[in-house]
Amino acid sequence: MSNATLYQIIPNKVCLSCDVCCRFLESDSPLAPIFTKQETQKAITLGADPSLFQPMQDGNSSQITLKPYKDYYICPFFKPETSECLIYNNRPLDCQLYPFALMYTEDKSQIVLGIDMLCPYSEEHWQTEGFKQHLQHIINYVESDEISVQISSNWRLIGDYQDTVRVFHTFNDKFIHAATPSDN
Ligand code: SF4
Ligand code: SF4
Repeated sequence: MSNATLYQIIPNKVCLSCDVCCRFLESDSPLAPIFTKQETQKAITLGADPSLFQPMQDGNSSQITLKPYKDYYICPFFKPETSECLIYNNRPLDCQLYPFALMYTEDKSQIVLGIDMLCPYSEEHWQTEGFKQHLQHIINYVESDEISVQISSNWRLIGDYQDTVRVFHTFNDKFIHAATPSDN
């Protein structure tokens, strides 16, 4: 199954000069990227250390172990000198989707899609027509058969509620059959 790269709305040069993504305040940040089973296997075949991938509760996905850098933590695939992702063409869906975020509602009763306002570009542009159209593109992509099947079996891709995410879409009950809300 392919790991399609989504059309990205944020220009590359904006991201390369931004200091938000791929960096984390805590070593055990829940926001560290989640890799599906296939993405984990692909990263390992590209040379990643298998011990970096921590198994998640869904039995398929894994979360990357962050590494210390200066006074914070970074994804081990991040090259801070140039702000590049060393596995950019094979980066996980979790990273491809950002600043769009899949998550549970605060009461864990529903699965929603929103835009993380911690992303400075999104905070500035979310009301534009281009962003609204892109939001629909993301919804269509996530609801496609291929991607919804991946998410169902790797349901930890659905993050816990974050109050920085402005919610724009609620998925219907048929979207993810296997998704089980986290109890942590
Ligand atoms: S926070 Fe937004 S602008 Fe900054 S690197 Fe991430 S996606 Fe790009
Ligand atoms: S996999 Fe790449 S895009 Fe994702 S957090 Fe790591 S360095 Fe950033």
